[in-house]
Amino acid sequence: MARASRVTTAAANAARPLPTALFARLDRLDRPGPHGSAAEVRTLPAAARRFLRHPRPPVLLGCVGALAAMRAARGPWRVRDAGVAAAAVAAQPFVEWGVHRLLLHARSGSRFGAVGYQLAGYGHEQHHRDPTSLDTMFLRPREVITGTVLATVPALFGPSWAATGTLCAGLGVLAYDWTHFLLHTRVPPRSAYYRRLWRGHRLHHYRNERHWLGVTSPLGDLVLGTNPQRDAVELSSLAHSG
Ligand SMILES: [Zn+2]
Ligand SMILES: [Zn+2]
Repeated sequence: MARASRVTTAAANAARPLPTALFARLDRLDRPGPHGSAAEVRTLPAAARRFLRHPRPPVLLGCVGALAAMRAARGPWRVRDAGVAAAAVAAQPFVEWGVHRLLLHARSGSRFGAVGYQLAGYGHEQHHRDPTSLDTMFLRPREVITGTVLATVPALFGPSWAATGTLCAGLGVLAYDWTHFLLHTRVPPRSAYYRRLWRGHRLHHYRNERHWLGVTSPLGDLVLGTNPQRDAVELSSLAHSG
């Protein structure tokens, strides 16, 4: 019986298109839960421990380490690298806004939407269905490794400042994943800036997911008009189920 099931699974795997089979392998890096709830975490050291012990964030940390090694191999730092880093910091709120709106909330109605949903939308939808669950909180290995493989081309074969850019992008993703997790914990907000992020992300989950898209910064929402008064936006169906 077990043998028949293995044969059936092998046949199914052989019939899958290559990207799907590859993604299934990447997802095996992410051991199944349960990993508990972010609501159990009440202090910053406990949050750091939980982040590092979960199977997903170390994959991201490893990928950022690989991007740092690629940049280090490209030679000394120059003034131009500081310019690239400053541009990356300035772009982060808008990149985050665009990725969250267009990719993480992609739905399978159009061809672009179907690709986005397969790459990242599905994982984010699971997070919206149970926002504090640590089983679906962090970026999935398939998202992180696909992004890193794509970044390898400019990091190794472009000018050295492109390697700096890919490292900054990796650090930006890491800042997003850590901050996003922290926003779902019960670590109390200690600064006005963090409280603002905390409130915005709660509204994103429990009011309407088309607004309050910033995680590490509210700037994208302020500039792009997705930071309305709470009651000016209707309660969405996804917020109902969250
Ligand atoms: Zn969230
Ligand atoms: Zn979202």
